[in-house]
Amino acid sequence: MTLIDVAIIGGGASGTTTAFHLANKGKNICILEKNNYSSMRICGGGMSAAVQNWFPFELNPVIEEVITNVEFSWNLADKVVAELSGSSPFWIVQRENLDSFILDQAINSGCKLFTNFDVVKIKKHSNVWRITALDGRQIESKAIVIADGSQSKWPETFGLGPKKPSYASTFAGRVKRKGNLKSKTARFEFGLVDNGFAWAFPLKNEVNIGMGTFLNNNNSIPSKKILTSFLPDLGFDPSEIIGQEAKLRVWNGHNNLNGEGILLVGDSASICDPFLAEGLRPALMSGYEAAKNLNAWLDGNIKNLDGYSKTMKTNWGNSMAWGKRISQVFYRFPKVGYKLGVKRSTAPKRIAEILSGKISYEDIAKRVINRLLFQR
Ligand SMILES: Cc1cc2nc3c(=O)[nH]c(=O)nc-3n(C[C@H](O)[C@H](O)[C@H](O)COP(=O)(O)OP(=O)(O)OC[C@H]3O[C@@H](n4cnc5c(N)ncnc54)[C@H](O)[C@@H]3O)c2cc1C
Repeated sequence: MTLIDVAIIGGGASGTTTAFHLANKGKNICILEKNNYSSMRICGGGMSAAVQNWFPFELNPVIEEVITNVEFSWNLADKVVAELSGSSPFWIVQRENLDSFILDQAINSGCKLFTNFDVVKIKKHSNVWRITALDGRQIESKAIVIADGSQSKWPETFGLGPKKPSYASTFAGRVKRKGNLKSKTARFEFGLVDNGFAWAFPLKNEVNIGMGTFLNNNNSIPSKKILTSFLPDLGFDPSEIIGQEAKLRVWNGHNNLNGEGILLVGDSASICDPFLAEGLRPALMSGYEAAKNLNAWLDGNIKNLDGYSKTMKTNWGNSMAWGKRISQVFYRFPKVGYKLGVKRSTAPKRIAEILSGKISYEDIAKRVINRLLFQR
């Protein structure tokens, strides 16, 4: 068996990004993916334009809509609209298109792809990782990247990530026409979902619709009931949507995301935003940072991969710590949160700026603290 540099388990947004940046630097790598690439992926597809920073190629071909307005409502009424400035757009993609576009760039750079490769066993023998698929195929590598999403069992197996992962209950679906959602407008509805929100994001000819609940999340989300109210408001019949429920692992404290020759990226690393379910930006960021550290480690320029966990803490985790606090207060008292948070004159713009990646939760927290100190 040939020993490759890195085996990436999972070919979603985080795995393909890691793969591209490793292959682009000439490393011998492969993606081991359980499924094929044709099916629809469960995701709202909303993504900050800031993700372009992590790619040397344009993501334009997969962007279906550039959002310039964000509309908020409480129980379908009491609407507030925020405008996004030209410099900080929010993009909407079809997730399956985004993932396969990045995958193509990785393959063009030399990455191998093994599909229908359901990883069931990972063992380390001296310094070599041996990964086994359900059908018995095996791969050996110097390092592994865990990128198999929210249901991953490997963080626990290798003592990485949070001891007690936290999950949001979610639903995502698609309607195959535009309804009455205004073009270039993303919609957020807070009153219909207990401890969470529902959204509608326009694509070129379709709409991504979903919802998430962020507290008491052992329960499943009553998606049918919520869709019965939400879809007619968007000009659809509830029977028009095709979608699925899923558990989404969200950020739950600062944690070690690497061991010796092993890194967690994307949802398996529990880095998804616990307030707004933004998981694509951290998935792409973690893929980029993981590859940067692995390239240096494989070249012998660094002794370990600890820099990866540190960078993810500084560049993402510190903001998520505030995101989690905001989420716990907001979703516990959502009506008050909507009145004092969203309906405050500057608030919708701030939320829109968070979505576009222009500011972080940490920036918001610092502003509030400064205001309180100043008032005193
Ligand atoms: C309903 C919903 C809506 C969302 N909406 C948004 C949004 O609008 N914007 C946003 O930023 N984020 C959103 N997110 C979060 C975002 O989808 C995730 O954070 C993102 O998918 C993480 O990418 P990933 O590559 O880590 O994991 P995934 O996309 O889950 O990819 C994991 C891959 O690993 C493969 N895999 C799994 N098990 C194995 C195995 N045993 N062997 C081999 N391969 C395996 C899977 O088939 C899959 O291809 C949403 C999430 C949900 C659930």
